[in-house]
Amino acid sequence: MANSHKACKHCKKSIRVESMTVRQFGNFCSVAHSEDWVITNRERLAKKGRKIRKQISAHELRELNRNTISWQESQTQKAFNAMRKNEELLWFKERGLTPTCISCGKAKGGDVWACGHLKTQGSNSRLRFDRANTYIQHNKRCNSDLSGDIYGTSTTHGYLAGLKLRFGEEEGQRIIDYCDSNNSPIKRTCEELEEMRKEFNRVNREVLKQLENS
Ligand SMILES: [Zn+2]
Ligand SMILES: [Zn+2]
Repeated sequence: MANSHKACKHCKKSIRVESMTVRQFGNFCSVAHSEDWVITNRERLAKKGRKIRKQISAHELRELNRNTISWQESQTQKAFNAMRKNEELLWFKERGLTPTCISCGKAKGGDVWACGHLKTQGSNSRLRFDRANTYIQHNKRCNSDLSGDIYGTSTTHGYLAGLKLRFGEEEGQRIIDYCDSNNSPIKRTCEELEEMRKEFNRVNREVLKQLENS
């Protein structure tokens, strides 16, 4: 329909449909206003919670989420952790070794593997997606119940000693020093996090293939 007009969802100004910025959550007079709408509504969402959430569809909510750093970080962390667990399994398999936990040195047993961070995800944004900071760990016993078991207990050597036992004194210390010194905060954009996630998923698929074929 030529000459048909619609109101911008953000500023309500009437504008020709052909020249609108079309997003899954509405039509806008400009890219800037589509972004402004997302920011405004994110704030309303956080403040009013369920009432506002009811007014937008699940699809729109997903689109809103895509524009929040916290959602992007958690999705990218899931992809990274899944990739790292498989990379670790491959590392052990290539050496003909049974996979063991970095903190207690024991096999999986009745637990499941977690991607254990030496420096926690929350406190260290720079290392949360870094291979040097992550090794397999018992999900319940060592990661959850012992908060990563960094320093060891009466019955376990702990994460730090585990690095030296697995990689040797020198290499283990190099990893610890690297993690200790790379602690300046880093801010990533939604786009950067999406790109990283794509790459982690791609690598994970390749590692899975190698695990199946070896
Ligand atoms: Zn507008
Ligand atoms: Zn363990």
